[in-house]
Amino acid sequence: MPDTVDALLEMIRQPQRSDAAFEAMLDLFERDPAALSLLLIQAMEAQTMRCEMLVAASELLPDEDTCEVYRFAWSSFKAGSSHGLVSEICLQAARSAPGLLRDDWDAVLRLSESEEIGGLVWQHLPAETGYRWIREARTKPPLAQWPTRNALKASGIAELQLAANELGGPLDEPWGTVELEARAGKESRTGRALHGRRGLHLRFGAKIQRVQLADFRSVVRRFQRLHPTWAGGKSRTTARMGGRLEGRCGICGAPLQRLLDLDVRLVGPCSIPLVTFGLCLACPDTGESGWCHGDPVFFRHDEQGRPDAHESQELDPRIVPDASTVLLDLEVELVELPCARWEPVSYSGGWQNYSRVGGAPSWVQSGMYLSCPDCHRSMFFVVQLDSHVPLTDGSLMPWMNGGMLYTFWCDQCLISAHYSEYS
Ligand SMILES: [Zn+2]
Ligand SMILES: [Zn+2]
Repeated sequence: MPDTVDALLEMIRQPQRSDAAFEAMLDLFERDPAALSLLLIQAMEAQTMRCEMLVAASELLPDEDTCEVYRFAWSSFKAGSSHGLVSEICLQAARSAPGLLRDDWDAVLRLSESEEIGGLVWQHLPAETGYRWIREARTKPPLAQWPTRNALKASGIAELQLAANELGGPLDEPWGTVELEARAGKESRTGRALHGRRGLHLRFGAKIQRVQLADFRSVVRRFQRLHPTWAGGKSRTTARMGGRLEGRCGICGAPLQRLLDLDVRLVGPCSIPLVTFGLCLACPDTGESGWCHGDPVFFRHDEQGRPDAHESQELDPRIVPDASTVLLDLEVELVELPCARWEPVSYSGGWQNYSRVGGAPSWVQSGMYLSCPDCHRSMFFVVQLDSHVPLTDGSLMPWMNGGMLYTFWCDQCLISAHYSEYS
């Protein structure tokens, strides 16, 4: 097997790039998944240039082998390696095995200079380290203060967040609070969690997956068919998507469509057994407001969980509803994956299946937990849908031109909310 790993590393050193090395890596994975840890460690040792195939290998690395590879990457990073694959793997470790990185907080801060790490790891930051970083950041130019600001805001420690806010000038309210909550995943006033601990991946059937992956290169499609978020894990239950609802849009008057029938209790606090999340797809492209413009849209639910327009939606008589965008009526699987690495804090595009129910959201932009229009508390995150939800005409729903739709729930008022972000 070492011969194969050597051969693979040799292939990616060749100046002429093709998909052959990527294909060979997938062959190796299918024959012997554990060989990927050897491939990645050797690539880091030899400082092989970070490339698509190696990043793909790090994503396919079996959960049981991650520890060895993460440890290697982390000691290399701490020893001063600036190798792209080393930082890539350290970032994965920070998200899925944050305990491993807690032996050197200054190195974690340095790692976050290349890409934001997000909540989990910072929530164990010792307060005295945070105070020292603030003192050090004050001596740096404003741009160099950002990693410290972001880390302290995500720490969830109120005094550190306050101090971080003062670095580089505080944001005007309510945006300061919105930013803090998006980073920490906790309500600012109360510390209440705004997302569940772990989510379920939303999985479409094989026929739909073929449509969802059709635009990728054939080797990437093969990779995705092996990827845990598209193919792995254990199905917990199914949920219905699509179909007309009785409730109507308050902006154009068209009937709502079912986004998902969900037992929200699977992923967060909910007092009713089933919530039907619904949305109007008849007015988004002509309306002056609505989720397609980045504005939140709210629905009130009855005790059976059925949605209807919230009073905040204002009828716009200029809109002619367009009934041509119809979600396909189908059943999706809700799948549990054992490893937290598939809930990244930000959407980095590309290969994985980001559609999820619960857990922490993957923000495309800076993120926002919406406020309930009735009780004004921050709402709980329940669903994110990538722009690959199938429509009856065979195309895929492009949330806000190819972004992500985020759905929230206030259990106190039985109100749902949606908004989208795009890259
Ligand atoms: Zn409408
Ligand atoms: Zn409320």
